[in-house]
Amino acid sequence: MRIILFGSPGVGKGTQAKIISNTLNIPHISTGDILRQAVEEQTPLGIAAQSAMKKGELVSDEIMISLIRDNLIQSKCSNGFILDGFPRNLLQAKELDELFDQLKINDARIVIISANEEEIVRRLTNRRACKNCSNILNYNDIKGLTACPICGAEESFYQRNDDKEDVIRNRLRIYKEATEPVLTYFQDKKNEIYINGLLTIDEVTKNIIDELEKAKGNKVIA
Ligand code: AMP
Repeated sequence: MRIILFGSPGVGKGTQAKIISNTLNIPHISTGDILRQAVEEQTPLGIAAQSAMKKGELVSDEIMISLIRDNLIQSKCSNGFILDGFPRNLLQAKELDELFDQLKINDARIVIISANEEEIVRRLTNRRACKNCSNILNYNDIKGLTACPICGAEESFYQRNDDKEDVIRNRLRIYKEATEPVLTYFQDKKNEIYINGLLTIDEVTKNIIDELEKAKGNKVIA
């Protein structure tokens, strides 16, 4: 199954993508995770991306499109994938369509998770990431803990720079300006699935899986 997970920063895409990737046994392609790792390792990709990421701005389309192409052509993606964080603007959406055409992919499903802005700011400022496994945890759930409850790494929690409030506000503004227009582009194709992101993690997962089941066989991207 090929899934594009879409929604504003903080809506729970990363959390859901990891669960669905495990449940459906398909690779999770998170552009944000790939970039953060590249920054950490100071690869040429990381060096090129780091200043935009620090400010919560978008990394150049050229870099992102080639990153997605490099991932989707790999054999690990031949039976499916879940894309998280791409496309982020209209150009990326159109380039993805072209790439899908070239790869003869015509069954991708677009899952759109939504939540209101206040809740998103509250969630993002409260979240912490584990440096070792990159899982996202809620600050209240890890208060007093020294080890990550998922991978066991010691003293590995940190607040991502792009989860600080001023950066979050900037990311939400960019989402509205650059990314939301992609929704209209998807709507023209009339194959998207809408999910309420304000429910519990388990409820959101169940709703996504149920809707994907219902939509089975539908063509999402022409
Ligand atoms: P995320 O974890 O998906 O919120 O991504 C973190 C940061 O990586 C974003 O704020 C951007 O700076 C960069 N990024 C991730 N995906 C993209 C993309 N498709 N286009 C441009 N920049 C991206």
